[in-house]
Amino acid sequence: MTTDPMTTEHIARAAADAALTDEEFRLVVRDWIAETYMLERNLRIRPSFDYARPWYNALSARGFLAPGWPVEHGGSGLSIMKQVIIVEEQERFGCCRMNEMGVVMVGPLLIRYGTPEQQQFFLPKILSGEIRWCQGYSEPGAGSDLASLRTEAVRDGDEWVVNGQKIWTTRANDATWIFALLRTDKTVAKHAGISMFLMPMDSPGITVKGIRDLTGGEELCHTFFENVRVPHANLVGELNKGWAVNSSLLGLERVYVGLPKHSAHGLARLHDLMTLTGAWDDEAAVDRFTQFQLDLEDHIALYEAALEQVVRTGEYPANISLLKLSQTELYHRITEAMMDMGGEIAGLFDPLVEHDNLFLSNQFLLARPTTIYGGTSEVQRNILATRVLGLPK
Ligand SMILES: Cc1cc2nc3c(=O)[nH]c(=O)nc-3n(C[C@H](O)[C@H](O)[C@H](O)COP(=O)(O)OP(=O)(O)OC[C@H]3O[C@@H](n4cnc5c(N)ncnc54)[C@H](O)[C@@H]3O)c2cc1C
Repeated sequence: MTTDPMTTEHIARAAADAALTDEEFRLVVRDWIAETYMLERNLRIRPSFDYARPWYNALSARGFLAPGWPVEHGGSGLSIMKQVIIVEEQERFGCCRMNEMGVVMVGPLLIRYGTPEQQQFFLPKILSGEIRWCQGYSEPGAGSDLASLRTEAVRDGDEWVVNGQKIWTTRANDATWIFALLRTDKTVAKHAGISMFLMPMDSPGITVKGIRDLTGGEELCHTFFENVRVPHANLVGELNKGWAVNSSLLGLERVYVGLPKHSAHGLARLHDLMTLTGAWDDEAAVDRFTQFQLDLEDHIALYEAALEQVVRTGEYPANISLLKLSQTELYHRITEAMMDMGGEIAGLFDPLVEHDNLFLSNQFLLARPTTIYGGTSEVQRNILATRVLGLPK
């Protein structure tokens, strides 16, 4: 389990990590992962929290789970570059992905906006994995246009009464708490009447229903609220300022979505497929593969330039939207080529017995939502058009 945030050992270890150069730190992280990682590598899907728990706890105990949080809150206070190195080295080794919402989203929110009571209650429980979060933002009718959300909280003394419905709540069926944007004032402009609340998922009146996706999984959920009572103490930040609270979240995760790993992994599988089917003799197929390889090199250059800019300025420029677009759309095109070149293998709903790294339909389907969640491609293009190119809205 995690260490007490303020032990001498914790402070000394964070200081030692901070004192290393980036190159030295990368080697320390790389060796530590190779010695410590205890779960299956390169899993095709994100596993349940219970499966990932040993790795979550190991990262937490080493100070690599919340490397960007300040030391006084149990983090390691490391630079952006060192935070990225920890992610990159996990990706390189093929460590499993976990539910990181607590660490990446809720923790930083509470560190910035939370009351001392909220910080003392939640932060250690996030580091220990005792609380697992889901994100209650999207609603039927409020996705890209999130500010149109209608799930409402009405004040009743020291409590709020919540009614409405969220949708696409990832892992609501595996979470113990939800952080949700709720409408707390219907009389003002839509961005101005939204507040953020934290609610236990076992609150009377919350029900969750899984949504079966194309891969057969039920990670996505409907979350219904019927007269759910939430203490006023669970409001994060100021009342009706939830939009600003949420906007402050848009930080490092925008760099992470641009990690070249998914496309690189897809391209390696396309290479395997072409070897299996003898497609290296087919000029058109080789041309297509070469184009992807060049596009991947372009993307890596873009990623490194964006990262360098963030590290140098400490800010996340609007053109970072390009990273998500470039990575997810390349991943789309690579998995489309897999389907084109796979012939009858492409129609299988199981991995190939002799080549279990080739599971084309699954790779194709897993690529589809990447251009939707975290802001669709069209929304990213709108951001680039208006905020980077200065085109009219
Ligand atoms: C795998 C996955 C996990 C998710 N997890 C969560 C989660 O945990 N919590 C949560 O709250 N939400 C989650 N979402 C929801 C996600 O944030 C929304 O799906 C996304 O914001 C798009 O909203 P929408 O689905 O309502 O589509 P819409 O906003 O209705 O968009 C439909 C289409 O119209 C286009 N469009 C919309 N507005 C514009 C515009 N102004 N200009 C041009 N085109 C436009 C879109 O690009 C899209 O192609 C998840 C989604 C997916 C796919």
